[in-house]
Amino acid sequence: MTFNRKLVIGLYGLNGFFPRDIKPYEAAATLFNMSIEPHKEINYTADLKLSIDELISQLGKLQRPTYNALFVADERLRDKKGLNSFGLTDPKARVIVFSEVALGSGINDAPQERILKEVAHLVGHLWGLGHCDDASCIMSFARTVEEVDLKLPRLCNDHSSLFKQAYRAFIGEG
Ligand SMILES: [Zn+2]
Ligand SMILES: [Zn+2]
Repeated sequence: MTFNRKLVIGLYGLNGFFPRDIKPYEAAATLFNMSIEPHKEINYTADLKLSIDELISQLGKLQRPTYNALFVADERLRDKKGLNSFGLTDPKARVIVFSEVALGSGINDAPQERILKEVAHLVGHLWGLGHCDDASCIMSFARTVEEVDLKLPRLCNDHSSLFKQAYRAFIGEG
């Protein structure tokens, strides 16, 4: 077997929603040598009024067919202080929660490039990468769309080598 199932990210919608265009999700996964497996047939429900920390701990407990899971909501996500959050990763539970809504002026026109960048950021956390001081690195923290737009769809040199290290260690495990 040459293809490692652990490099697949299952994509799941929440509360009847599913992303219309999965290309930016696929592009984000590809940056980390991973692939997206859409699961439109599974409909999970979650209380999106919860803070994103509480939400992700609930999502981590759901039964799912893939090792890695990316749950997408169609409502704004907020942290404990009520501040906007594009998404969150729990690297131990192998779970990501993300919303496209705050990345565009409306649900229907969330720009694909911003989705790519923020999903890639969250996948970077799955690999244990931390935040970056370089505003153009995908791992720099963004609270606003302006900050997202400053990023390039790539890792800085430091993060690129950290990812390669993590990837080699993971593949080496077999
Ligand atoms: Zn982050
Ligand atoms: Zn960086």
